[in-house]
Amino acid sequence: MVYRDDFNVSCQVCSRPLEKFRGENFTYSRCPGCQGIFIARAALETIWERLVKRPAPRVEWSDRAGERLCPECHAPMRAAKIREQAIDACAAHGYWFIKGRLMRLLAAG
Ligand SMILES: [Zn+2]
Ligand SMILES: [Zn+2]
Repeated sequence: MVYRDDFNVSCQVCSRPLEKFRGENFTYSRCPGCQGIFIARAALETIWERLVKRPAPRVEWSDRAGERLCPECHAPMRAAKIREQAIDACAAHGYWFIKGRLMRLLAAG
């Protein structure tokens, strides 16, 4: 379900306001333009346990800067990987998945 309250966080790729989605005990944000998904670590773990019935995989952080800024604090994110899939990560706020990447990871279990 989409809701809009005071949430005003923009995609740092295409500048559109992110839409926030609320599930049971978790939320995540999605860009209606590029379809990127931004999700906090705790929410990622909740989704994984709910849908895959297993703990979320480890995130491997690199020393390199990521390609994007964090939509919440606008600081450069760090390049990271989950199962060899590239993501961008902000230590304080969460992970950015390009279009379709999170769903593919979830589908692969
Ligand atoms: Zn976008
Ligand atoms: Zn941040």
